[in-house]
Amino acid sequence: MQGVPSDEAARVPAQDGPEQVMPGVWRIPVPLPFALKSANIYLIDDGPGQRILIDSGLGLPADEQALRAGLAAAGVALEDLSALILTHAHPDHIGLSGIIHAAAHLPIYMLDGEEKQISAVWGKESAPLQTKLDEMYRMNGMPDELRAGSQKAGLALRRILHLPPADSLTTLSDGQRLELGNHNYEVMWTPGHSDHHLCLLRDDGLFIAGDHILPHITPNIGLYVGARPNPLADYFGALRRVEPLPAGLVLPGHGRPFEGLAERAVELHAHHDERSEFVYDIVSGERDGLNAYGVAGRLFGERLRSVDDWRFAVAETLAHLEYLRLAGHIERAAHDGVLAYSA
Ligand SMILES: [Zn+2]
Repeated sequence: MQGVPSDEAARVPAQDGPEQVMPGVWRIPVPLPFALKSANIYLIDDGPGQRILIDSGLGLPADEQALRAGLAAAGVALEDLSALILTHAHPDHIGLSGIIHAAAHLPIYMLDGEEKQISAVWGKESAPLQTKLDEMYRMNGMPDELRAGSQKAGLALRRILHLPPADSLTTLSDGQRLELGNHNYEVMWTPGHSDHHLCLLRDDGLFIAGDHILPHITPNIGLYVGARPNPLADYFGALRRVEPLPAGLVLPGHGRPFEGLAERAVELHAHHDERSEFVYDIVSGERDGLNAYGVAGRLFGERLRSVDDWRFAVAETLAHLEYLRLAGHIERAAHDGVLAYSA
């Protein structure tokens, strides 16, 4: 998740450095050049030969530096790592995975389906998807200039990432038990923020949340091409799924670890419900309908300052519009090749 115009500003401690959050578990924040200033990498250190890393930041030299320094603070070298788990295939979570793999020759775990995103969205074969994404933005009313900027931003991101070889990826399936180090982890499919987003519940209650549950900001739930058709409905389902879990400390992909998984899941659900009602109000106030770009402008207003803000805002607005449409509350029609929604 990056550059998302969420309802609350990203709150990251001014002096954000590596910290031990519980015995054997370290949080290593690495920098992001976005409104959201850092992404978390976690080290789970169960001793020699049993050192697991969760996520891998963006791929900037500063990220690699912060990761190496954070590991050093924990007394571990990059070469000592034994497994890497990627919660989802967003750039701020996969960026250093190629460098980590080259140093430690470790298996990289992802949920089945999500691993395909690495090559389809970020790899050499990503051009067809980018063309479709541009077409999606065009059909939803985004002006040429913003679309060109969005394409450029995508290309720039791709150059930053260090992707691992495809044969280093091991896929996991929902409900699977994963034995790693001294612990057993339950693998959970939590779609919404990405189609095959992974959460893990450790046998002692430690909950690895990725970007499914964040402490101070709401995860961006966006609709993209080639993805599941109703990400907001997926997200609501996945929030309900984690709510009753016997979770203790929650390790989010951004921000500091916290307790109270159930409460936060309920808050996030309520927040997105409220936003959906707001989207409905915007659409129903327009007799002739409104495209997603127009709705996004009303929904986010002056918070939209950059190309990144806009592309995330349009994708998030689309997730709400399609959620409302598929529930039968609003309709969609094409006018001159642009999709308009109306109540
Ligand atoms: Zn993300």
